[in-house]
Amino acid sequence: MTKAGRGSTTMYHLELNRRMIRGATLALLPGDPFRVEKIAGVIGGGSRELAWNREYRTVLARLDRRPVLVTSTGIGGPSTAIVIEELARLGITTFIRVGTTGGIRPGIRTGDVVITTGAVRLDGTSRDYAPIEYPAVAHPEILFALTEAARTLRKRHHVGITASTDTFYPSQERPDTFSGAPLRKHIGATAEWRRLDVLNYEMESSTLLVLASVFGLKAGCVTGVVVARHRGEHITTGRFKAGERNATEVAVAAARALLGSPRKKA
Ligand code: URA
Repeated sequence: MTKAGRGSTTMYHLELNRRMIRGATLALLPGDPFRVEKIAGVIGGGSRELAWNREYRTVLARLDRRPVLVTSTGIGGPSTAIVIEELARLGITTFIRVGTTGGIRPGIRTGDVVITTGAVRLDGTSRDYAPIEYPAVAHPEILFALTEAARTLRKRHHVGITASTDTFYPSQERPDTFSGAPLRKHIGATAEWRRLDVLNYEMESSTLLVLASVFGLKAGCVTGVVVARHRGEHITTGRFKAGERNATEVAVAAARALLGSPRKKA
């Protein structure tokens, strides 16, 4: 049996097998299972739900007639690693995270898009795959496709380094953490990341980028800004929707470019 398993081997968490995914090699990865159908809607061309187990929901969509998966990762490194592991075993070679984020650098506004060149590895999961000295970097082809898509679609976008954390509250230095007494290491962290020209906080890119590199696969990450932390802390529905929509449109356009033109019928 190959590393990828036989066609009928069904993945434990995703509840998918090779036969079901119809030769798809590219997957778009939102965190939220309810974002899966929104992304499929932007792709157009008809889609079919293949599985939904726990936080993992997968839809098979057709992008210019080519099969593409949209699979939710859930929040954070551990659940994201499961998705990369199981999709890689099914033959997915290109992964694009389509997420939401908190901007920390001044000049970043809600609704903008951040394209991650590399991630600060503040997660724990990626350390189970590579030592901390190993970089979490986007594959250049995916990075190029995402930046070109943002430029062509005229989306306000920022390209740079993302801090990828394991907690939404203390390690993103949120003032409303219930403990009210964050660890010393988190106090002043945001100002320090800003000084180091880090653009934003999110919770999955470091795991995705490290695993893809270690596995010899391609990955990139685009996120929509749902809160600009230098301006305020409040995430409103309207701001959330704008960030989500812009990141989705950029990701779908990048996927289209990466897949190339469909073969014409003879
Ligand atoms: N996701 C995060 O991890 N942080 C934010 O501020 C917004 C979305």
